[in-house]
Amino acid sequence: MVIEVKLREKYDIVIERSALSRIGEIVNLDRKVLVVTDSGVPKEYAAAVVSACKTPVLVTVEMGEGSKSIETYTHLLSLMLENGFTRGDAVVAVGGGVVGDLSGFVAASYMRGVDFYNVPTTLLSQVDSSVGGKTAVNLSGIKNCVGAFWQPKGVVIDPTVLKTLSPRQFNSGMAEVIKMAATLDKELFEMLEGGNFYENIDEIIARAVDIKRRVVEADEREGGLRRVLNFGHTVGHAIESEKNMTLYHGECVALGMLPMCSDEVRGRLASLLELANLPTKTDCDPDKIVFGIAHDKKLYDDKIKTVYVNEIGTFEIREEKLSDFSNKVREVLS
Ligand code: MG
Repeated sequence: MVIEVKLREKYDIVIERSALSRIGEIVNLDRKVLVVTDSGVPKEYAAAVVSACKTPVLVTVEMGEGSKSIETYTHLLSLMLENGFTRGDAVVAVGGGVVGDLSGFVAASYMRGVDFYNVPTTLLSQVDSSVGGKTAVNLSGIKNCVGAFWQPKGVVIDPTVLKTLSPRQFNSGMAEVIKMAATLDKELFEMLEGGNFYENIDEIIARAVDIKRRVVEADEREGGLRRVLNFGHTVGHAIESEKNMTLYHGECVALGMLPMCSDEVRGRLASLLELANLPTKTDCDPDKIVFGIAHDKKLYDDKIKTVYVNEIGTFEIREEKLSDFSNKVREVLS
């Protein structure tokens, strides 16, 4: 299945079992290609891309957020320069969000931009970060401090790669799918309530990617609608840093969604999260969560703006007093 993303420049997202084995037919690799992967990704995935390139340069960065650094970024640019890459050459990311963000930014900035292709190998990156063109590295402990919007020339999603993903990582990706369904697609939410995620994963990916496509097309530079994607992320990010990254992103988003909805939605949401083996309670101190948010968002005026779901498949942007917000977080999560 092919989903066409219509931004200033169009590109295709190909969702196809075993697409990796014929990637040379799907994207133009008949040139110099920097293939970027990380040490946590099974080697055969990058190898499949390398074998389809005319002149590949393979680089394997360390697994983890630490590779989204200016140092690694500089290293990749230097590799391209040493190997004589020109504007007509390309970068391909094979991995999760870290590899995609890092190599996307390399592609965005090398000689003012070269072609970028993304081959996401985690469910989270397939349904989320591979669509939208956000690329970045971290600086001085600030996440995504330096980056650019740089749309890929193409995204290749091969659902069969998910067989090597740990169940916990799979579930973490499902949290973002559930987030999109809860805010924008009631029908998908109902389908998910039926379970069988692995069996239905091709359709789940396609529907989630299509939701994200709609949002990004409507709001490429994050001025309005794209904020809906932050559902669960305000509280989620606070839990993520409070827990020192020991919880996965999706697990934190799962927790973060629960205080931000009506009682009725919360009941269904909690059941679905449990079905997906995602947490619905945390031992995280609610005061620390709220303090983290207030500090992070520099809230001086005692009000906080969040995405709220009153009814499945819809959302609103709500502004509430920090004290009300904090009571809700306390009540729901502990
Ligand atoms: Mg997220």
